[in-house]
Amino acid sequence: MAIIIDGKKVAAEIKNELAAEVQVLKTRGIVPKLALLLVGSDPASEVYVRNKHKFCIDIGIESLQVQKDASITEDEVLAIVNEWNNDPTVSGILVQLPLPKHINETKVLLSINPMKDVDGFHPENVGRLVAGLPTYVPCTPLGIWELLKRYEIDLSGKHVVVVGRSNIVGKPIANLLVQKQPNANAIVTICHTAAPDLSHYTKDADVLIAAVGVPELIKAKDVKDGVVVIDVGVNRINDSSKESGTRLVGDVAYEEVAPKASAITPVPGGVGPMTIAMLIKNTLQSINRK
Ligand code: NAP
Repeated sequence: MAIIIDGKKVAAEIKNELAAEVQVLKTRGIVPKLALLLVGSDPASEVYVRNKHKFCIDIGIESLQVQKDASITEDEVLAIVNEWNNDPTVSGILVQLPLPKHINETKVLLSINPMKDVDGFHPENVGRLVAGLPTYVPCTPLGIWELLKRYEIDLSGKHVVVVGRSNIVGKPIANLLVQKQPNANAIVTICHTAAPDLSHYTKDADVLIAAVGVPELIKAKDVKDGVVVIDVGVNRINDSSKESGTRLVGDVAYEEVAPKASAITPVPGGVGPMTIAMLIKNTLQSINRK
């Protein structure tokens, strides 16, 4: 039977650890503050920002939440970021993506002070990750790494196959796990849509990380016995047996892959809950980096 990697449980443990760290910082007169900018009223983004805000309040750090109408100009967004860059009370800055089409996302991400870039998307921090220097690792890959560490999954010399090469998940997790350092040191392959036979690569994986966005793409025939599966995908599919008419599935066909796996993350309840916990971990790290 595969070990079920319980992201919900681990995220709750980390929340308690972070709350304890915040108390120690408070004794030194430090109260971290996360500044969150939401542009427009995309329902999913509103939920994400609300959850991030709540996490901050729960563990006792400040959260400055600013929501602007979708008609805001690029210059106005840049001015808000600039104000937070120069505000010594702001420890971390997060601009919720996606931004409306008339605002250049790259320009906005580049304008964030890399020392406050707790999402880890600024090219300076991406470069530091590639170079193996201290940095802010993007939150979802950091969450995956934390799960692998806490479940004591040895990666040294293991073949990790990452399916997906996004800047948010695929590339950073590959760059993290290939580093010559404890809890990494893996042999890493990155796959994408140009792979002529995806199964050829996934079948060789000791650890398979799927960050694709295609419901249940990876089947039992695509993995070997004993594989560790990290399923990042969050896909909503129709299911008439549910009251809502839909349900969430990952990029891996859980029911048929789990019996072959030695460990696997469920969807939901695997990688997902880790992301916000890692955002706040990065925010506290910003105090130490200063
Ligand atoms: P993305 O930017 O759309 O990237 C998807 C990647 O998968 C691309 O590199 C694409 O290849 C590759 N791909 C797509 N179809 C493929 C196929 N049939 N065979 C091989 N490769 C294929 O997605 P993302 O932002 O990384 O997100 C991936 C999934 O993770 C989504 O379901 C998303 O909702 C989920 N996610 C979850 C969390 C969380 O739980 N906290 C966070 C982030 C993302 P090309 O580059 O060639 O197009």
